[in-house]
Amino acid sequence: MAPRSYVREARRRGLGRRRERIEPIVERLAEEHSDATIALRFRTPLELLVSVMLSAQTTDVNVNRVTPALFAKYRTPEDYLAVPLEELERDIYTTGFFRQKAKAIRGTMRVLLEELDGEVPTRVEELVRLPGVARKTANVVAAELGDAQGIVVDTHVRRLSQRLGLTRQEDPVKIERDLVRIVPREDWHRFPHLLIWHGRRVCDARNPRCEDCVLEDLCPSSRLAGVVRREPGATRAPGARA
Ligand code: SF4
Repeated sequence: MAPRSYVREARRRGLGRRRERIEPIVERLAEEHSDATIALRFRTPLELLVSVMLSAQTTDVNVNRVTPALFAKYRTPEDYLAVPLEELERDIYTTGFFRQKAKAIRGTMRVLLEELDGEVPTRVEELVRLPGVARKTANVVAAELGDAQGIVVDTHVRRLSQRLGLTRQEDPVKIERDLVRIVPREDWHRFPHLLIWHGRRVCDARNPRCEDCVLEDLCPSSRLAGVVRREPGATRAPGARA
């Protein structure tokens, strides 16, 4: 079913408007995934920025395998520029796309040193000016530095937002635009983490476990819809939050 249908489906089934459903969605997910946080390991804003840049097209686990040795060797922006490009490429090789990433990291370090006193900025509009830093990376960095200015949209956030009927868009920028209209600003940081963890643990791309989902009665794409609710008195999936 196309995402467009889920928004309509939510109305058709009387699940409530997006703005009405968002509060219980956030509350239930926060209770269910109280440990939901960024999986990348870092200690400083610079390590955060490099980790997020390395995480493109690979898993956080893979990045975390590389970064302890990387961050022991490269502690400042100058360190990334002090070695030959090929050496940095070798050091990040296993994260994939190592040539593009090494080039982007060095370009970013140059801008940090030449224009930003070596400091990682917290404003998204400054972050996206860094080479190889797209809006998603900028949003992650800004949020983790305590200044969320948007909502990170990755593959899980996109899929769950569509399935939950929170957006009918396909493009991440347009999805973010829809989400910031309905998600309270104080939740912009944790909301993507909650969707990401729910996507990993319950709402799998191919095989969503709707019977175990705390959002089942709020979700227009539940596989149980029309099965469970037709039973007398049953308004929720077995196992879902009462
Ligand atoms: S009810 Fe199913 S489709 Fe909807 S969010 Fe839960 S697991 Fe995903």
